[in-house]
Amino acid sequence: MTDNCIFAGFPLDPADHVRGNEKWLSEKLEAQSSRFLLYARGRPLMNISEDLKPAFKTADNIKAIAVMDGINGGGNWDNIDWTFLGIDGDAAIFAVAITGKPDIAHDEKFIDLRSVALQLGADGFNAVPSLLGRGKMLLDWNGRRHFCSGCGHKTRAERGGYLRKCLNEACKAEHFPRTDPVVIMFVVSGDKCLLGRGKGWPEGNYSALAGFMEPGESIEEAVRREIFEETGIKTGRVSYVKSQPWPFPSSLMIGVRAEGLTRKITLDEDELEDADWFDKAYLREILASGGSASFKIPPKIALARYLLDGWLQEE
Ligand SMILES: [Zn+2]
Repeated sequence: MTDNCIFAGFPLDPADHVRGNEKWLSEKLEAQSSRFLLYARGRPLMNISEDLKPAFKTADNIKAIAVMDGINGGGNWDNIDWTFLGIDGDAAIFAVAITGKPDIAHDEKFIDLRSVALQLGADGFNAVPSLLGRGKMLLDWNGRRHFCSGCGHKTRAERGGYLRKCLNEACKAEHFPRTDPVVIMFVVSGDKCLLGRGKGWPEGNYSALAGFMEPGESIEEAVRREIFEETGIKTGRVSYVKSQPWPFPSSLMIGVRAEGLTRKITLDEDELEDADWFDKAYLREILASGGSASFKIPPKIALARYLLDGWLQEE
């Protein structure tokens, strides 16, 4: 595995230096060299003819689609949720959200980004989910922030969709995209690790415990609190391993290993259906055999799997 995991490893120059240049952006929105990713309800438009890949569109394509969609009054980009993603050579890359049912080609399809990542990440790292994920996160945030959370007045996107400014002269609040940190906690005690399954998960799926950080917490505090709340297990040393952007809708997964100090499990039944300690030798067998119907480990794109694999490779 490379240092990057799926949804990390952004492949473009994010070009912060041009985001504030409205003239440059408006020229690029009309330029034939520009390329556009299209999303419907958070799903990117993919080309499914051969290898799965993004179905990039031109500015003219987007305007035609937007007119059909009934949202592009007079070819005005202000009426479309779009965001600037970066530069690839001479081409500016944008992401655009569409609301209706655009006329798409027979070999194109809007596909859930999890499915895209599972397919593209099956054999290791692939940078496309990172590109698609960033577009999804920014469009999702812009779509939810058309009105100021301070005064309720309309907002306007600036800096290519990385900022929304309140249009109320008395307020002028600036809103920035948010990222919600989540701790992914791989608890180890000797030759056993703690895995659990959440309520409503597919049958047999087990993973590392996870939880949102709360305001005012350090990563270590969040990890110890979450593990104790969900399983009653006390943990000692917490060490950071790796992070992963997670665009559902806009999280940052922080992968850690935590040292289990106790073993008795008291399950929080509101959160978890099950949690248990699993032997290293048993998990190595499962990994070698690809799992069974009653016990499945996380897919390769998941940070929990990276944490598990790392531990299993140790003596
Ligand atoms: Zn306001």
